[in-house]
Amino acid sequence: MAKFPIRSANLKIQTETPFRMQTVSKRFQQRMNKYDVIIAGAGPYGLAVGAHLSQVRGLESVIFGEPMSFWERNMPQGMCLRSNWTATQIADPVGKLTLEAFQLERNIQFQTPVPVSRFVEYGQWYQSKALPDLDRRKVISIAASGDHFIISLEDETAVLAKNVIVALGIGAFARRPIEFAAIPKELASHVSEHRDLSAFRGKNVLVLGSGQSALESAALMNEQGVQVEVCTHAGSIHWLGGWASKTLHQGLGKGVARMLYAPTDVGPAGLSQIAARPDLVRRFPRAFQDALRKRALRPAGARWLHKRMQDVNIMLNCGVISAKPIGDQINVKLSGGIEKTVDHVLLGTGYQVDISRYTLLSPKLLAGIERHHGYPKLRPGLRTSVPGLHMLGAPAAWSFGPLMNFVSGAGYASRCLVQHFSDRKKKR
Ligand SMILES: Cc1cc2nc3c(=O)[nH]c(=O)nc-3n(C[C@H](O)[C@H](O)[C@H](O)COP(=O)(O)OP(=O)(O)OC[C@H]3O[C@@H](n4cnc5c(N)ncnc54)[C@H](O)[C@@H]3O)c2cc1C
Repeated sequence: MAKFPIRSANLKIQTETPFRMQTVSKRFQQRMNKYDVIIAGAGPYGLAVGAHLSQVRGLESVIFGEPMSFWERNMPQGMCLRSNWTATQIADPVGKLTLEAFQLERNIQFQTPVPVSRFVEYGQWYQSKALPDLDRRKVISIAASGDHFIISLEDETAVLAKNVIVALGIGAFARRPIEFAAIPKELASHVSEHRDLSAFRGKNVLVLGSGQSALESAALMNEQGVQVEVCTHAGSIHWLGGWASKTLHQGLGKGVARMLYAPTDVGPAGLSQIAARPDLVRRFPRAFQDALRKRALRPAGARWLHKRMQDVNIMLNCGVISAKPIGDQINVKLSGGIEKTVDHVLLGTGYQVDISRYTLLSPKLLAGIERHHGYPKLRPGLRTSVPGLHMLGAPAAWSFGPLMNFVSGAGYASRCLVQHFSDRKKKR
């Protein structure tokens, strides 16, 4: 980071397995680079938090990871963001690293829906401005050692940190239904495994799911000459931005729209204002919090996608019963007696948070994190039950609400962590 340049002399460590790091001797640890805070992951959350923490006086922090790599490598080219303009801004502490400033500097123009390629460029531009010293190395393991964490990196070096902020995103949580567990990836793959859907040109593909990524992948493939059908167990497709939503957003005046919808753009009318305030969400009974999360995160497609899906057959109320390879194709039995044999099944089946799938966390560290159905139970300051270990992004949604699943939640997460580390500095 600008204020605390990364020291170049990280120590080279020979380890048999990543978690042997815990046994590194005290003398060796004394010679390792030490930080107050390390951030693992450089997506919108890691970047926003890194930029904010770089403003906290006397706090030595460093961020590891390839900036925006999930958006660049694990989302299909040609995809657009569903979020509105304000919710696509990555929060920065001085409010200057906006989409508008990016457009002006690069002399480019775009609007909503924002193409994913532009969002990646924006995130990388943001990083170059706010965090020019970001360290692109991958984190291989994180383990606790006394009152520190040992973070080992892909080049077999390691650093020590008093605090770790886990900002690793949802990539590890891709959901593969059990029926496809034994099917090779050549025949059934998750949407997050593809960047270029034109690879399916000339083939027939069955897409499972009814959320944005399933529907948009189907639209993109259809436009590229792939024979595509969609199958979902849902009884209908939820298209966002219908006439009711349009009326509430635009028809009743700006004042009413502002009252009903927060700029963070998460959740329906009214609930959007609650979801925008994670500290308020936490005060509601658990049942309400769960219902809010479910409602705000239900599978849905952007209205602008509707027209592009006109030529695609969508099979509703249609669950998968079984799947089996037949030669170089895959046969899928669906409910209602439907059977399909296709070249490929694309699983637009979403993501299911389960932090045990963050395999870089040492087993001992993981065992110390209090959890609920895969989510960490977080305290104020996005703290896990392990002192010094913080988590944000989607894993924080059980504790702080659905805002944490979206780019627009990075502002709250950043302010929250600035407050936490500033308070701790004052207490010392
Ligand atoms: C198809 C699709 C469309 C979406 N559209 C929207 C949208 O329109 N608006 C919206 O707000 N949200 C959208 N989302 C949700 C989006 O994923 C999150 O809002 C956003 O990515 C959260 O940011 P993040 O920083 O938590 O995670 P990510 O963006 O996933 O960033 C995590 C980063 O951690 C890095 N990393 C992982 N492992 C390591 C490691 N071992 N060492 C170092 N770095 C590592 C990754 O490379 C990645 O860069 C969409 C998601 C999908 C799948």
